[in-house]
Amino acid sequence: MPLYEYYCEDCRKDFTLLQSASVNKQETVCSECNSSNVHPQMSSFSSKIPPRTESSAVKAGPVTADELPDKGVLNLPIPKHVSEYHD
Ligand SMILES: [Zn+2]
Repeated sequence: MPLYEYYCEDCRKDFTLLQSASVNKQETVCSECNSSNVHPQMSSFSSKIPPRTESSAVKAGPVTADELPDKGVLNLPIPKHVSEYHD
């Protein structure tokens, strides 16, 4: 039997119910105040995943040419090959 998490608007509490799939969720009432003003918690699974920190994700990648501070160093003339001086 699956667990369902609900949030009660009236008493502002989260509560969990064991319900079979055949139960009408519209008739679910709060276990604290018996109010029918409850909402299913759909994000119970994703909320347990820690959020990615944007800064560490960006720094982890390899540095590309666009990120080099001075692009001029890439435009230096290519030196002649050493073998050309052996003749
Ligand atoms: Zn309640």
